[in-house]
Amino acid sequence: MPPLTPGAYLKMRRCAAGLSVADVAAKIATAPRLAEHARAELIDLIEADAAPASFETIVVLSNVYWFDFDVLATLVRAALGADLKLPRICRICGCSDRDPCVQDVALVGQAVCEWVNVDLCSSCATPGAYA
Ligand SMILES: [Zn+2]
Ligand SMILES: [Zn+2]
Repeated sequence: MPPLTPGAYLKMRRCAAGLSVADVAAKIATAPRLAEHARAELIDLIEADAAPASFETIVVLSNVYWFDFDVLATLVRAALGADLKLPRICRICGCSDRDPCVQDVALVGQAVCEWVNVDLCSSCATPGAYA
């Protein structure tokens, strides 16, 4: 399987957060300010790896949904041709050891997902178990 691209990773994390491109476009403010539809186009291009995301855009996106900067940086290095060990990432939600799914459990506190397969986490293996 080819390594996950940076854009595909961002898309997975957005989807895992239950947000549409339009949701994210409505929540981010870019500098210089773009119209909302232009922001949606930019997100589409970034997720398709068709346009580079500025560092500011990455930071702004991270305010809207959670993803891991180190995982993203590793995927960018891989996309640039670096031969390195890729992080383990769930093929459905994009979670990783650095950025696991978190379940709020009454009384117990928080539980995080575990690996049930090389690229599948317990949260995705049991849909609905985690928020
Ligand atoms: Zn998962
Ligand atoms: Zn997970």
